Amino acid sequence: MLPISKMKSFVSSSSFSTLSPYFPITASPTLSLAYKSTQCNPIFTHLSNFFSLKTPRVSLPRNEGFSTQKRTAQMGASLSPPSGEVHVIVGPMFAGKTTSLLRRIQSESINGRSVAIIKSNKDTRYGLDSIVTHDGMKLPCWAVPNLSSFKQKFGEGAYDKLDVIGIDEAQFFDDLYDFCREAADMDGKTVIVAGLDGDYLRRSFGSVLDIIPLADSVTKLTARCEICGNRAFFTLRKTEEKETELIGGADMYMPVCRQHYVSGQVVIETARTVVEEAHKVEFTTTA
Ligand SMILES: [Zn+2]
Repeated sequence: MLPISKMKSFVSSSSFSTLSPYFPITASPTLSLAYKSTQCNPIFTHLSNFFSLKTPRVSLPRNEGFSTQKRTAQMGASLSPPSGEVHVIVGPMFAGKTTSLLRRIQSESINGRSVAIIKSNKDTRYGLDSIVTHDGMKLPCWAVPNLSSFKQKFGEGAYDKLDVIGIDEAQFFDDLYDFCREAADMDGKTVIVAGLDGDYLRRSFGSVLDIIPLADSVTKLTARCEICGNRAFFTLRKTEEKETELIGGADMYMPVCRQHYVSGQVVIETARTVVEEAHKVEFTTTA
């Protein structure tokens, strides 16, 4: 894997946070993580949720009658504790999604929250016990085949104490939607998800886009076009393989702008056709 420092991402952020009392997106050079936090007490979290339910922040028009207020209060009382959050980071390859995820996780950890990072065990490029960015940043993580197995692997008790869960390469997890919904809605976790929104053909990749309706914030990062240096929104596959999930780095993929995505696809398709035709001729002449 090549360090692609020249493709450091530039954030085109459309973040909007409605339920975010904490979420400083400040980078820190320190890489240490406090996995067990003493400051984040689940009891306190539950108590604050309880009290926040007592005073639902619902403003009613003046002409609404008592019955509406009563109904609103009943609705508030029947809701689950609204303490979790879901934040989604998408973009092409080499846009700095993992770097952004690790910085956010690191920041949460420095603020005393208990954190864990999950990645798919399909991606074995750097080993399974750590997560590494294209520019060399590295943190420990949990590699699992699917998200539903995380709680058991991590331990139920340890899971209960977790405040923040980071998910990298989220396009590889089919159960992303259910996991995020349960973790944020039911378990009160802050879930930060990083993944590709589109594959090399710019089709929706995995379940990443499915969780947008669950999200507090969505951030689309961009890279630098490897050909012209303009902002890159897409990932061009340089090789001829056609499967959607083909894990690789700068040897197989490059970030490109729209113009160079379109022209690049034409070049690659043409090359593929030429190669296929050549194989046919070879087969015919040898058969
Ligand atoms: Zn370009």
